[in-house]
Amino acid sequence: MKTGARRSVFAANWKMNLSDQEAEGFLRELRAAKLPDNAEVLIFPPVLYLTRLAELARGSAIGLGAQNIYWERSGAFTGEISASMIRAAGAQLVICGHSERRHIFGESSEMISRKVRAAQNEGIVPLVCVGETLEEREAGEAFEVLQSDTMSSLAAVEPDQSIIIAYEPVWAIGTGLTATPKDAEEAIAYIRSQVRELWGDIADEIRILYGGSVRADNIAELMSCANIDGALIGGASLNPTSFLQIIINGSNI
Ligand code: PEP
Repeated sequence: MKTGARRSVFAANWKMNLSDQEAEGFLRELRAAKLPDNAEVLIFPPVLYLTRLAELARGSAIGLGAQNIYWERSGAFTGEISASMIRAAGAQLVICGHSERRHIFGESSEMISRKVRAAQNEGIVPLVCVGETLEEREAGEAFEVLQSDTMSSLAAVEPDQSIIIAYEPVWAIGTGLTATPKDAEEAIAYIRSQVRELWGDIADEIRILYGGSVRADNIAELMSCANIDGALIGGASLNPTSFLQIIINGSNI
């Protein structure tokens, strides 16, 4: 079993998937399962399902989050949702800067930093994603990107040990390609060193997750690395059986 101050996190990012019925069924199944005490289990459903899922999760150890917010509190921002709105719907966390937001929707690190601050101001825990593209990795620029993503996403953000970071190499997301445990550990140790530069010893308390084609058969090896504190899971989190198996295999380290 992994020991130490940092409690493992297994986070399901459902993206724009699952019907409301499927989402409810998933939550009921997860609630009925015996979840390991040493792991924090988080679900990031489509935002419309938050209220219902929060009712179903009440009294359990399952945490809920939104996949995105806008940084303003209210106003003429058609289609956007604020941190206070997701909190009212039952979210305790929000993903900021997922690579799909950065690359499909053109979000900059400056925008992400604003979202992180907006979340903090409402008592919502930000889960901040950073990671390089394949071209950046092949050009030998991976660490430069991690430095710039980490530094700028956390710029002007209050030091906060509850913030979660996810290292998600873009080339590994939804592709079936997983970073080797050695590469993931190296990248995550580097991200931790960047957090240390910004926030000092709080870096030792920050959970840093790996994300990118995590499955039940590769989680244990990833979790055996000293700096890897959990996983952000996309595809394999859409099925309760495979998500549960990841939690179990990842917690028995
Ligand atoms: C993700 O979207 O954050 C992710 C890691 O997806 P997948 O597990 O499908 O690669």
